[in-house]
Amino acid sequence: MTIAARHIPKVGLVSLGCPKALVDSERILTQLRAEGYMISPGYDAADVVIVNTCGFLDSAKAESLAAIGEAINENGRVIVTGCMGVEAETIRAAHPAVLAVTGPHQYEAVVSAVHDAVPPAHDAKFDLIPPQGLRLTPRHYAYVKISEGCNNRCSFCIIPSLRGDLVSRPAASVLYEAERLAKAGVKELLVISQDTSAYGIDLKFAESKYRGREVRAKFADLVKELGRFDAWVRLHYVYPYPHVDEIIPLMAEGKILPYLDIPFQHAAPNVLKAMRRPANQEKVLDRLDAWRKFCPDIAIRSSFIVGFPGETEEDFAYLLEWMKEARLERVGCFKYEPVAGAKANDLGAAQVPEKVKEERWHRLMQTQQEISADIFSAKVGREIDVLIDAIDEENEEAVGRSPWDAPEIDGNVFLPGATDLKPGDMVRTRIIGAEEYDLIGERVS
Ligand code: SF4
Repeated sequence: MTIAARHIPKVGLVSLGCPKALVDSERILTQLRAEGYMISPGYDAADVVIVNTCGFLDSAKAESLAAIGEAINENGRVIVTGCMGVEAETIRAAHPAVLAVTGPHQYEAVVSAVHDAVPPAHDAKFDLIPPQGLRLTPRHYAYVKISEGCNNRCSFCIIPSLRGDLVSRPAASVLYEAERLAKAGVKELLVISQDTSAYGIDLKFAESKYRGREVRAKFADLVKELGRFDAWVRLHYVYPYPHVDEIIPLMAEGKILPYLDIPFQHAAPNVLKAMRRPANQEKVLDRLDAWRKFCPDIAIRSSFIVGFPGETEEDFAYLLEWMKEARLERVGCFKYEPVAGAKANDLGAAQVPEKVKEERWHRLMQTQQEISADIFSAKVGREIDVLIDAIDEENEEAVGRSPWDAPEIDGNVFLPGATDLKPGDMVRTRIIGAEEYDLIGERVS
């Protein structure tokens, strides 16, 4: 294809209002430019026009409505954003032809409305930024952040004071990103946020348009949509709320990975209360039981904190007993460290001596090691898909992961002799051995 033959989508922009609105306009244009759109100086050449409105005074609203009307007359395809966007009904009453209306600072919603109106046209030969964006992870897996901030107030954590309350991305924005990644060859999408199960609460589960369909910004709806891509979908930072039950059938059907990362942090009621953990009232063990009955292959990974201020020997013993009952597949453990600014510092509870923390850490890890070894040795003989991460030439083996293992934090599957494989390959593998944290496998030809 020659440069002349390639249609480059063009976007026009009318920016009204204060400097904050101007900064919003710049951010929107920067994002669109990075995605390969050209900025059109006039109405004529633009495939779509964004009108960034001001709604501060009545006169500003009138000016905004007039600007929208002009853009519709001159171009016909108009997306409205900015402060007046909160009055979507007024805008639609005056100008029913507008394609989409979004509010102030909703950059991603504007960009996804542009995607809907004029899909981006990427071409690896010409674009400086690849369709999947610039990423720091290997090519075959990618993290997809679905929200920022957190509505919880765990006493050991300062994230809400640093990043504010939960702000979810519109579902369409997440799905377009996931689609770009899958098309670019990413084999595994790792869904992250501070509280994945709370996704969309701040948006009141608002719908957004993805490929002509309305998709709700709701945890189960989003996960279901992600499950349609040709990639593994792994969920991190999910709390065991009742609505999480809805996604277990997707795991059982193989639409998403049978894996949930639930940061329990503790189990003893006193400690959970002092930590102010979300979902600590839910009947967790019953819930795990029900999930496993429905999807026996599910792997639960979690992290725990030992030595939280006020944690007694009874609390810790309770945690160990709970772990023996919960039989989690993968576990990480941290010794409590005070974070400057965290509420836990003001609880007035007795600090746990470092020596005791150390000893509890070892006891917990020992308990878990036996559980994991037991669970994973029972996998020997099974056939599973393994995603290859690397080839270790020195040890003459391929290093991959099973559906039960997230990159960096969980175990590996080693395939001795399979050095002809490459990162990103998905290989059917028979498990022939199990070590403490890792599995050994051989390719099934
Ligand atoms: S630790 Fe608690 S407050 Fe901090 S980000 Fe996680 S859920 Fe939110």
